[in-house]
Amino acid sequence: MLRRWRTLLLCFVVGFVPAARADEGVVFVRDAEIEAYVHALAAPIYRAADIDPQSVTIALIQSNEINAFVAEGLNEFFYTGLLEKTKTPEDLAGIIAHETGHIAGGHLIRGKEEMKNASAEAIFATLLAVAAGAVSGNTNLALGGIAGGAQVAERSFLSFSRAQEASADSAALRFLDTAGISAKGMEAFLKQLAGQELLPQDRRDAYVRTHPLTQDRIDVVRRHVEASPIRDKKMAAPFYKMHERMKAKLLGFLHPQVALLRTTDQDPDPSRRYARAIALYKTGKADRALRLIDGLIKEEPDNPFFYELKGQVSFDNGRMDEALRAYEKAVKLLPSSALLQQALGHVLLESADKAHEKDRVDKALVSLIEAARLEPHEPMTWRFLASAWGRKAAWAVDNDYQALATYALAEEAAAQGNAKTAGRLASRAMEGLRRGSPYWLRAQDLKLVSDRMGKESE
Ligand SMILES: [Zn+2]
Repeated sequence: MLRRWRTLLLCFVVGFVPAARADEGVVFVRDAEIEAYVHALAAPIYRAADIDPQSVTIALIQSNEINAFVAEGLNEFFYTGLLEKTKTPEDLAGIIAHETGHIAGGHLIRGKEEMKNASAEAIFATLLAVAAGAVSGNTNLALGGIAGGAQVAERSFLSFSRAQEASADSAALRFLDTAGISAKGMEAFLKQLAGQELLPQDRRDAYVRTHPLTQDRIDVVRRHVEASPIRDKKMAAPFYKMHERMKAKLLGFLHPQVALLRTTDQDPDPSRRYARAIALYKTGKADRALRLIDGLIKEEPDNPFFYELKGQVSFDNGRMDEALRAYEKAVKLLPSSALLQQALGHVLLESADKAHEKDRVDKALVSLIEAARLEPHEPMTWRFLASAWGRKAAWAVDNDYQALATYALAEEAAAQGNAKTAGRLASRAMEGLRRGSPYWLRAQDLKLVSDRMGKESE
């Protein structure tokens, strides 16, 4: 499922943002399949840079603009427009390597003088990083960021200097070599962008504005590729397939009309039929979408994301039993995905009618608790957990469930960066939770962070 959420930080951000932006909002995209691919592609590059892949947050932003940036801490942001523009996994690996070069070079914190020239977009970018704390599982970043709006703006991300671009490129080439990935994709992508240097400044893509592109950069990369023994090496076939699936998904979800024009039901290429199925679903033709998805499942019975799509289409069309079976299968195939576990938990809750209530709410709790373990700061997971515990409180004698529901709402507030509310809910939850139990301890942590921040802002 390609789920989008608008950051709740928007009200906070509005002052910095051009009106058009503010109206649109910042839309983060969460998708288990695309995230899994980008993480898999990035992991060897991060390791080459001596960065623990687990510690990097990758966030996707829905925008037709071509841009990528890094922000405070280990946060890399990719615009969907950029992902759509890449042709091969090597192209995208080159971009990841370059952004990682900025992280490794510490090109993140800049002086006040340069701050003055920061575009609204750049300041916005830092705020997004704060929002990403909510995604990544770094509560302190999320909470800390909200408290210190002014400091956030000061630590703002800015467009890079030419010297930093050169340094990020040379680091990127080193990382790619170490990871055994040809830099040909990096060269190809830079060349693709190079045409823009002829355009007036305001018509260039954001990526070219924030990462100044010069002939020099292209020459350096070209020479490196020419001399590289692995220049013609292609990444393993699964990466090509994942890249295709990513592009198919973005096409289907974000440009369904284009997808419908470009594909047919009989297309021999499963990725193209995947894009078509999504586009049919997006344009209200669920039956035709489901027929295509069933065909895809037949061809790739172990692909969790085909089942996920089937679950989503079925769910949105009120076919709860089919949705439930599809999500159960998706989770069985990929239990380590927090997003899939969360979706299954959600469908279980939604389908927990009188006849199935106890059984399904209990099963939902299993999935949602696992989702929260895998990704502790996803607000929706906590929202669903609050609902599940709340329902359990209604029939169970045990008072703990009401306190647990309150605790889950505290976590949700914290994950959204709302420290004050988190603290208030956490102290209420602590009254009902068993003293010293794991959730009590966690509620206490939330309260302490909230108290500390309250003091700092006084
Ligand atoms: Zn750059």
